[in-house]
Amino acid sequence: MPHKPTRSFFERLNQSFTDSRWQSYKRFALWGYGVVVTLVLASMLYVLSLDLPQTEGHGTVVHQAAENQAVLRGREAENIYNKPADSMSAGLAKETVSLLDGGAKPNGDANLDRDESADKRAKPDSETLATLASKDGSITIPVKDIEAILPIPQASEPAWRTYAANWTQKGRKHIAIVIDDLGLDQDMSKQLALLEGPLTLSFLPYADDIRRQTKLLRQRGHELMVHLPMQPKAVTADPGPNALLEDITPAEFERRLQWNLERFTGFVGVNNHMGSALTEDAGLMVRVMVQLRKRGYLFLDSLTSPNSVGSSAARATGVPYIERDVFLDNERSLSAILAQLKKTEDIAAMRGYAVAIGHPYPETLKALQFWSAKLNRHTFSLVPVSQLVAQRSAAEKLAEMKKATGP
Ligand SMILES: [Zn+2]
Repeated sequence: MPHKPTRSFFERLNQSFTDSRWQSYKRFALWGYGVVVTLVLASMLYVLSLDLPQTEGHGTVVHQAAENQAVLRGREAENIYNKPADSMSAGLAKETVSLLDGGAKPNGDANLDRDESADKRAKPDSETLATLASKDGSITIPVKDIEAILPIPQASEPAWRTYAANWTQKGRKHIAIVIDDLGLDQDMSKQLALLEGPLTLSFLPYADDIRRQTKLLRQRGHELMVHLPMQPKAVTADPGPNALLEDITPAEFERRLQWNLERFTGFVGVNNHMGSALTEDAGLMVRVMVQLRKRGYLFLDSLTSPNSVGSSAARATGVPYIERDVFLDNERSLSAILAQLKKTEDIAAMRGYAVAIGHPYPETLKALQFWSAKLNRHTFSLVPVSQLVAQRSAAEKLAEMKKATGP
């Protein structure tokens, strides 16, 4: 006969719980736990999704709310700049516009409609207007006031200072020689590397083997720039792949801008390749400048159009900038290029500095070799363009200080 074991009270109790009731208690407990966790998570999500002004009411989160608002404003600024000036409308939140009350006020007579402001855009003065609109209605303000209203985050260690080339002060009149359209003729890069500098060398971002070419020139003491392709007016002129054009979407514009700025490193800023059409468009130029400001680059306006708003847009967004004075080789003969170099000297002698832009032509290389050997270095110093930008920015700041404090 099989022996039936005697079970203790606890064993029997345990057995009965394991069988039926215990299972149902366990299921009940698990369900309850699940419901509680879901409720807690849902209420946390709800609190996070509340508008920031509402969370400001809770004393302990005021500080964080203020920080969040700063981030929010930064994001809104980006949204605005992602649109052309004539459609800077959607997405400007109420709190951003209300900043106007404490800061710059819109001009009383700036009540332009869209078409008129498009005409104004073509003017290279500091009164270039942009229309911003919100749920509360639209405002039109000078582009120069944009920064005061919508602060743009700036690189803490600006690239235009980090990568500035060294130079030696001999003469007190400063000349920057910029050669652009570089990168396609790799032999020309090697020839330029041998010239006494510092020269400022601006590379087409779509050039092959661009990292190696630029690295060599920087090691030789020259300063580097990106020669940013932009839409020209002439329909026959091709600015090249990934050029900034007027009729591409804002997203594609940003993608191309980013691509162009990330092809190599060690450069101080950009100057426009072509761009006689694009540099007249304040909205699009502001979008370019916002990226330059964020990444800490300077802007040299090649001035391919007399109506360029490049400088206005740079000033408005806090991007250090300068403009080209002389094109060296519109006429490609040795004598004509030497005459333009003399003109550059004359401007530097009068104003203290001059910026000349030339191109990778054999005639230009020859003229530079000849001119450089004869340059009176007691009077003139060759400087990288970043040096002139630094001097010009300092002079502008000084003038502002004097204006603010009086004579
Ligand atoms: Zn060019």
